[in-house]
Amino acid sequence: MNQGIGSPGRSALDLEPFRRELNLQRRFRLEQLGTLFNEANLPCPAAQAEVRAVLAAGAQQALAEIEAALARLSRGRFGNCELCGNSISVHQLEAIPTTRFCLRCDHRRQAKFNSGNEFSVRG
Ligand SMILES: [Zn+2]
Repeated sequence: MNQGIGSPGRSALDLEPFRRELNLQRRFRLEQLGTLFNEANLPCPAAQAEVRAVLAAGAQQALAEIEAALARLSRGRFGNCELCGNSISVHQLEAIPTTRFCLRCDHRRQAKFNSGNEFSVRG
């Protein structure tokens, strides 16, 4: 596999810590899912099975985000906003390495979600 380091884009960002962190998170999620699937074979109360299903769905979603971030890393697109293409701040990436949007686009998206059907967001 070709590594994305050295590809055009942001030169100042050291990708290696992010790759390591994402791989750690990926392994954690895979282990979590493995445990949940193993436990799914055991008899248990319905309420507990429901909790497991919610946990598994969350872990799968997280795993999908982690793998998408790793894919962006190998394509040299890591740290670029998927909406506007601007660089995402290092602090934001350090806090959440799976971040796909810059703060501005993220706020916009959240404002849209929060406003629901009312379209009254103004700058
Ligand atoms: Zn953006």
